[in-house]
Amino acid sequence: RRIAEADSVAVIGLGRFGTSLALELMAGGTEVLGIDADEEIVQSLNGVLTQVVRADSTKTEALQQLAVDEFDRVVVAIGSDITASILTCSVLLGMKVPGIWAKAVTEQHALILEQLGVHRVIRPEAEMGRRVAHLVRGAAQDYIEIDRGYAIVKSAPPARLHGIPLGQTGLRKEFGVTVAAFKKPGGEWHNADADTVLSEGDTILIVGPTRKAEGFAQLR
Ligand code: ADP
Repeated sequence: RRIAEADSVAVIGLGRFGTSLALELMAGGTEVLGIDADEEIVQSLNGVLTQVVRADSTKTEALQQLAVDEFDRVVVAIGSDITASILTCSVLLGMKVPGIWAKAVTEQHALILEQLGVHRVIRPEAEMGRRVAHLVRGAAQDYIEIDRGYAIVKSAPPARLHGIPLGQTGLRKEFGVTVAAFKKPGGEWHNADADTVLSEGDTILIVGPTRKAEGFAQLR
């Protein structure tokens, strides 16, 4: 069965990263074609992903046979075998797949993939390490840097925000950040607006320039 027409993604390399990615895509309702050279891995994901096939992704014919060129998005999640990663990306670029994502394990690996023309290069260890640094350092309960220098920080609201509508706190002017959303204990997330009144025990999402958002999250 061809699954390329629907909301679907092909994931090549089903190691820890590729499997986790594929399972999360499935959980979100996206159809996944998984490809790996290892028979045991293919067996273990059989029936779990929409389709799982054993193939060597460095071979053009293999990917053509699987109609991988009909996918809009293909993720190359091969890391440790850099040669296989590069060859696979090269095959996909030759097939003119419009959205090629690839995982890189080192800076040089990432550079080569970028030079080849891979559309989106991800470095999970490097990115996760950076992210955890921000969590370890400060009061942030969670942290996502959207781009270099701009972040979303999850934290507790500092005392100066308690009991006053957000619109009257002078937050944007004084601190250069915005509270985008909040959650009461045991409640759901809601978008914050000028009338939102926060209390101790709430959780907020602060949006702004990284230093400012982090600085604000440190306030008690
Ligand atoms: P992780 O660190 O996420 O576990 P790995 O790089 O160790 O990632 O795993 C990569 C996966 O890609 C392995 O399951 C391996 O069998 C698969 N793989 C490696 N080379 C090829 C290839 N040429 N064709 C298809 N799958 C491959």
